[in-house]
Amino acid sequence: MMTNAVIDPDADLISQVASKFGKRALCIFAHPDDLEFTCGGTVAKLCAEGWDVHIVVTTSGNKGTKDPTVTSQQLAGEREEEARRAAAIFGAREPVFFGFPDGGIVNDDELRALVTRQVRLHRPELMLTWDGFRPGFNHRDHRYTGAAVHDALYPSSDDHLYFPLDKEEGLEPHRPAAMLLTGAGTPDYHVDIRRHLRTKIRAALAHTSQMHGRTERDMRAMYEERARQAEAAGEPGPRFKESFARIIFRR
Ligand SMILES: [Zn+2]
Repeated sequence: MMTNAVIDPDADLISQVASKFGKRALCIFAHPDDLEFTCGGTVAKLCAEGWDVHIVVTTSGNKGTKDPTVTSQQLAGEREEEARRAAAIFGAREPVFFGFPDGGIVNDDELRALVTRQVRLHRPELMLTWDGFRPGFNHRDHRYTGAAVHDALYPSSDDHLYFPLDKEEGLEPHRPAAMLLTGAGTPDYHVDIRRHLRTKIRAALAHTSQMHGRTERDMRAMYEERARQAEAAGEPGPRFKESFARIIFRR
């Protein structure tokens, strides 16, 4: 791999990261089904193209129910299992759960240290996470997870004096080539997921506790309808797409 390579903002980001830096991705989201709904098609594409994809979930989604008979612990176990099934459907690595309480994420040193360690451990060249800085309504766990990942990549993960205990484990500083933010206010990168829509839907359906009996056919109809609306509104990009804001660290 060329170490002094740069990314051209006018050419496709994912294929440049793959060819110039390496096919390693790390996805960090707040709840067990965030990834599947926001960028499941993109993750399916990366896995199909031979990327090594690691997944981190900062909470266990242990408040994501309206069922009064379910305890938080039961739900955490169930939702972690669902996320493991979804990761297997993609062909990604088994997810790592930081185990923070649902609704309780804070962008603090503890979370940034955990994120930094994952970055130094897996040395991803592409990161996927929430846009932590989008104005308007967004779940606090999404905002703080996105902001903590952002802050961990710049400055801490690539500067050895941040979280120096990692060095004792033999983990060297590292910063990925680029980052894709989901749920972005002003997306500027669209991934064509037409060929991976079925995998995205199957992975989303693995989250049985959240699906309220929806079927593959219901989900397909929902995405078809969404594509029709986007087309009617004159939105740019492919018919079935996932949209991101890009942050390029190597340009
Ligand atoms: Zn969420």
